[in-house]
Amino acid sequence: MTHSNQTISVRSGIETDQQFGAVTPPLYLSSNYTFSDLEQPRRYDYSRSGNPTRDTLAETLAELESGVGGIITSSGMSAVYLVTHLLDKGDLIIAPHDCYGGTYRLLNSLAKKGLFEILFVDQGSEESFRSALKRKPKLLWIETPSNPLLRVVDIHKLCQLAGNDIIKVVDNTFLSPALQQPLKLGADVVVHSTTKYINGHSDVVGGAVIAKEQALYEKLAWWANCIGVTGSPFDSFITSRGLRTLSVRIRQHQENTLKIVEFLQRQSLVKHIYYPGLESHSTHAIAAQQQQGFGAMLSFELDLESANLRTFVNSLKLFSLAESLGGVESLICHPATMTHAAMDDKARETAGISSSLLRLSVGIEEAADLIKDLASAFKRCQIKVLKGEQHG
Ligand SMILES: *Cc1c(COP(=O)(O)O)cnc(C)c1O
Repeated sequence: MTHSNQTISVRSGIETDQQFGAVTPPLYLSSNYTFSDLEQPRRYDYSRSGNPTRDTLAETLAELESGVGGIITSSGMSAVYLVTHLLDKGDLIIAPHDCYGGTYRLLNSLAKKGLFEILFVDQGSEESFRSALKRKPKLLWIETPSNPLLRVVDIHKLCQLAGNDIIKVVDNTFLSPALQQPLKLGADVVVHSTTKYINGHSDVVGGAVIAKEQALYEKLAWWANCIGVTGSPFDSFITSRGLRTLSVRIRQHQENTLKIVEFLQRQSLVKHIYYPGLESHSTHAIAAQQQQGFGAMLSFELDLESANLRTFVNSLKLFSLAESLGGVESLICHPATMTHAAMDDKARETAGISSSLLRLSVGIEEAADLIKDLASAFKRCQIKVLKGEQHG
């Protein structure tokens, strides 16, 4: 019997304990396991290679993404790093020009060491994408929606154009399997920073790689053990606990986001809102077609002629000024000085990241409280220009 994703994540590992009949699966911290006899290893021998707590999380994520198997890694970045082991010297990767900063840095640095070649392209432009394909890449890296402008690319179309000879990888961190399943759209591998929505409580750094076919899965699992990037049992346990509520969290995240977007649209101090759920968003149509929801990340530009950005950010009590995303708590981030500070001014300008841009990761607090908090910050940050205005 097949179950919905909501049921799969809630029931992960439930009633699997053979020894005591525990309802929730126990946490196996042991680094090693006895052999039952000389030359007779049991299912597990050493926790870098395999661990029951980590395997429960891996199997559940693989099921949610419709893959044959998953590997749980120590971080999202080690998940990205693991995937690069599918390449040989001289092989080419095509990656988005606006991919996650850490991914950009890693791919660039490994390419500089001569491990493979890298080409960053605007995958939203069919012309640029087609001309990149002419260079016969071995691996296509997709990340959608993008950070922080939430640009969406058509996974199915890009995978079709790439064809069967290319390994197609999608970083699905921004939406989670609750809202997008890339393996069903033609991808071969899905990557996650489980630090974000999958764990969802901002208390673990972790990652996952899920493969559609057995051969790729085995190759990735072999390399994960070889280089030692597998995640810890404790982190896997906490992440499995977070994963149980993924669907209900996402529902609340999105409900709050819709209300906040409606509120922001009425604010005179807000110049532009970037949210794929808005019909005015440049890639709304693709998002509506390939996603099961528009997610809970959004960015907007504050009118810096009429509002003081520092006062706005500091006035907020329910949006913590922090990087990262996907936790139950609401966050605000200033990409130009935080997540995208490593880019030079020109690169930021090309990417469309202005100094007036603010990014929200909308949490699951009561929406009315979040809106009140924003309203009060908008009021406080206004630059007073009217003569004779009363100051309180
Ligand atoms: C955070 C993030 C990563 C990196 O994950 P870590 O868990 O921080 O190592 C990779 N891709 C995307 C899209 C992310 O948001």
